[in-house]
Amino acid sequence: MKDETGLPIRCTVVDPHVENGGRDDWKAEIASAFPDLFEPPRGLPECGGGWRYLIEDACARIREALEADQDNTLKMVQINQKAGVLNMFWEGTLSARARTKVERAIEQAYIESARTCEVCGFEGRLYTCAGWLTTACTGHGKGKVAPWERRVETVRIVQGTMAGKPQILSCRQYDPEDDCFFDVAFDSLEIGTEETLSQEGSQRHPGPARGGFWLKTGRSS
Ligand SMILES: [Zn+2]
Repeated sequence: MKDETGLPIRCTVVDPHVENGGRDDWKAEIASAFPDLFEPPRGLPECGGGWRYLIEDACARIREALEADQDNTLKMVQINQKAGVLNMFWEGTLSARARTKVERAIEQAYIESARTCEVCGFEGRLYTCAGWLTTACTGHGKGKVAPWERRVETVRIVQGTMAGKPQILSCRQYDPEDDCFFDVAFDSLEIGTEETLSQEGSQRHPGPARGGFWLKTGRSS
């Protein structure tokens, strides 16, 4: 395509059906806004831009949690959508106090994502389409509105090494009735300690704590 001067016309291809025209600059922008938490391309968000602000809020709260102690270090390992909600995985070395704050920030993002359209950020709800779950507004929802609230109870387990031994550092379960997480005894779940601690991730990273394993108990409420 040429204009009257004979020079090629610059054009940018933008897909109107994809959020932000298919550009995902926002992911790199988050990483540059929080260089202390990201080592790109590792950990860059792999979800829709509607959750951008949830991720930014969580990162701001995580940074604040780390500032209390210079020995606290944390890097995001993965940020993605699974079963229609936002998961944030990290690894690092944190004081117990900082870890609690980090977990609360990630839990909050998880809870908010369940009612926020992943595409545009407006109010959303759970949709089911060909076996996939997504959280979307009426405009972006594909398939059918799920006829249930999130019925699967999610458990968040943070594991790490204490006194040289891999251990479960915290275990919290989502309560759909109260829309919050609460501490739960690991032993009360039908998940084997060996099984959890021997997951690939913990073998690869035997040293620092590693959080963000959202395991499902398989029980329905
Ligand atoms: Zn939407």
